[in-house]
Amino acid sequence: MSFLSHLECGLCGKEQDADKVWNLCPECSKPLLARYDVKAAAKVFDKGKLAGREPNLWRYHEMLPVRDAKYRICLGEGYTPIMHAERLGAEVGLEGLYIKDEGLNPTTSFKARGLGMAVSRAYELGVKEVSIPSAGNAAGAMSAYAAAAGMKAYVFMPQDVPRPFISECKALGAEVTLIDGLITDCGKAAAELAKKYNRFDISTLKEPYRIEGKKTMGYEVAEQMDWELPDVIIYPTGGGTGMVGMWKAFAEMEALGWIGAERPRMVTVQSTGCAPMVRAFEQGTEFAEPWEGAKTVADGLRVPAAVGDFLIMRALRESNGIAVAVSDDELMAGANKIGRTQGLFVAPEGGATLAAFEQLRKQGWIQDGEKVLLFNTGSGHKYEHMWK
Ligand SMILES: *Cc1c(COP(=O)(O)O)cnc(C)c1O
Repeated sequence: MSFLSHLECGLCGKEQDADKVWNLCPECSKPLLARYDVKAAAKVFDKGKLAGREPNLWRYHEMLPVRDAKYRICLGEGYTPIMHAERLGAEVGLEGLYIKDEGLNPTTSFKARGLGMAVSRAYELGVKEVSIPSAGNAAGAMSAYAAAAGMKAYVFMPQDVPRPFISECKALGAEVTLIDGLITDCGKAAAELAKKYNRFDISTLKEPYRIEGKKTMGYEVAEQMDWELPDVIIYPTGGGTGMVGMWKAFAEMEALGWIGAERPRMVTVQSTGCAPMVRAFEQGTEFAEPWEGAKTVADGLRVPAAVGDFLIMRALRESNGIAVAVSDDELMAGANKIGRTQGLFVAPEGGATLAAFEQLRKQGWIQDGEKVLLFNTGSGHKYEHMWK
């Protein structure tokens, strides 16, 4: 069962009934966050219970929003391995280097977590048609879960998105619209048509449940590292659901009594061709100005504006973290280095985490003896054109 109690706006705090379909907060147009009756959950949900459960993200179902198990659409998402990257660590000079490989998720990226959760909850609430603007991976993931739920899927991607992203959505039965523009332009088109045809819009942080799927990465990091969080987590940030989700998971686990007050220093990595969060972090602002002329080979990072910007900034600042930008050459070199040393064919976004690591190590921001976890958010297969 689920201990979901209500929704709460991440900015103004206004509460909403969780059993109705919502997009943004109706008061201030900021993201709604799911809240749980953690006191009641703590009485029955002991971390010792996890051992016998299925190796997918539904193992944390008490702290997930789907109430009735028959609406959980499971394609095997989550519970991806964390590997001790010994050969890579030896090369870059840190013994305690780890990689969590999200490329092993259904549709080969961690987008499966968020979209699996959002589509499952929409299914439970009676939604029949879903729509999404996407740089690529989110569209594929939504198409897969919509197909498995018997829902109609509409996806909107930039017209220069690599072919494999388009083929994947088509094979999964989605209706694909290609837009001459960036993801923000896709967002406008998707929202307009969603309103006109009464489709549910599952844009990043514009509905409450993608982040609930993504937060399971935080639960897994704690469980898989034996309830001792690493010193540093490096995460390639676009819309920020992963960053915000993990930060939420740590707070929930502390409230459940599973972990203490210590937190990893959270690192956002973006591309120098699109770094709105890095700029906002450096300028010390709460919100991020949209990035003009966004351009990077890491499609997941080509996000010029994020509605959850203030939540990303909160996680970075409260954790004593940092935001860094790396060039496309550096992130591709990072991907190749991870491949050559660890046997993982990672997405450019995954390569970016190593490039950020090397930058921070050089500056002394990461020290000897620390435990550092890199998030490879997707497999390299859909970006195969990058290696031609
Ligand atoms: C979407 C995506 C990202 C960015 O994730 P957010 O949680 O939106 O910040 C990073 N890497 C890959 C491979 C992606 O598909």
